[in-house]
Amino acid sequence: MNVHEYQAKGVLGGYGVPVSRGVAIFSAGEAEAAARELGGPVWVVKSQIHAGGRGKGTFKGAAPDAKGGVRVVRSVEEVARNAAEMLGATLVTVQTGPAGKQVNRLYIEEGAQIAAEFYLSMLVDRATGGVAFVVSTEGGMDIEAVAHDTPEKIHTIPVDPATGLMPHHGRAIAKALGLSGDQARQAGALAEKLYAAFTGKDMSLLEINPLVLTADGQLKCLDAKISFDSNALYRHPDIVALRDESEEDAKEIEASKHDLAYIALEGTIGCMVNGAGLAMATLDIIKLYGEEPANFLDVGGGATEEKVTAAFQIITADPNVKGILVNIFGGIMKCDVIARGVIAAVKAVGLSVPLVVRLEGTNVEEGKAIIRGSGLNVIPADDLDDAAQKIVAAVKGA
Ligand code: GDP
Ligand code: MN
Repeated sequence: MNVHEYQAKGVLGGYGVPVSRGVAIFSAGEAEAAARELGGPVWVVKSQIHAGGRGKGTFKGAAPDAKGGVRVVRSVEEVARNAAEMLGATLVTVQTGPAGKQVNRLYIEEGAQIAAEFYLSMLVDRATGGVAFVVSTEGGMDIEAVAHDTPEKIHTIPVDPATGLMPHHGRAIAKALGLSGDQARQAGALAEKLYAAFTGKDMSLLEINPLVLTADGQLKCLDAKISFDSNALYRHPDIVALRDESEEDAKEIEASKHDLAYIALEGTIGCMVNGAGLAMATLDIIKLYGEEPANFLDVGGGATEEKVTAAFQIITADPNVKGILVNIFGGIMKCDVIARGVIAAVKAVGLSVPLVVRLEGTNVEEGKAIIRGSGLNVIPADDLDDAAQKIVAAVKGA
């Protein structure tokens, strides 16, 4: 689960991580009071969307010389004017895709005087099986470009989970950033706080770009991006409360209410499968035969008829779906339950695209009989390969 920058800074601030003072606002009317509260003389007006690259982004329909999604301003009036301009507008960045994202929240921050910009991130490193810091002196810019052009400028510092963070990790980070003396001590203290926050809140990714050295010699996090491990959210109700559903895929939110493992994809073939492995194989074989899946969907091992119905409705509600492939290997899941769920869903929402159903396993004959007897226009398939070819052919023919 992702959160907004201001929420990420709130979480980090709770661990004593140095961040700027700021006020989040939801309407232009709140801008002036927020600016006065912070005092100035320099403010930064920051668009809050779940995407990076805001500074270099552009607003749809704005003048070519208009500024991006992060603006440094020098008066209360300018804060108010820029807030009014940005709120409700659609910001397009390298990460939003061409459709962009509507800005519904702003973060007004006190401006910092920047002497140097660094990059710092933390992630769960599969290679070492632990948390690692990734740091670079090349902050404030596109880190992917740095990794590509000058990989030697990126330093990875793994932390052994058995020892946790040790002073030597902080020294390694300071050295990689070229810091010494008091600033190296600050880097060590920062690493400790970030590690506590990362592990304490079950983060999967934390990115500070830029981490800056201010003109008066203080390390400060000017940007913050956090992804939390969804599997651990049950023990962090404070983090769950930060969820902004307007930033998420509506179909994925609906699926999560039914406890379905659903991920929206770009293609045209809607898939309903039981078991993550079979679901992955189904996506692969659809691609093999030249089409693209519209989603990943694992209805799980012990799905009920209601759950199957909900899953089918989510798939059919997607306007990109030009055909549906139901691929079930009944182990714990019974084929007749799937068949009844599919029929209930079709009766409820109708069916305007081709539907291929492949059933195998427990109660397969009963399941097939239910579908045959339903009078629905279902294309039956015998195995995965047959099913994939049939749905691809049906979609291409349509
Ligand atoms: P991003 O473009 O989405 O990554 O948004 P950032 O929060 O990183 O802001 C973009 C850029 O704005 C930063 O890299 C900084 O150069 C600049 N910026 C952000 N906050 C301040 C500030 O307080 N003072 C100054 N002078 N520049 C800032
Ligand atoms: Mn940034």
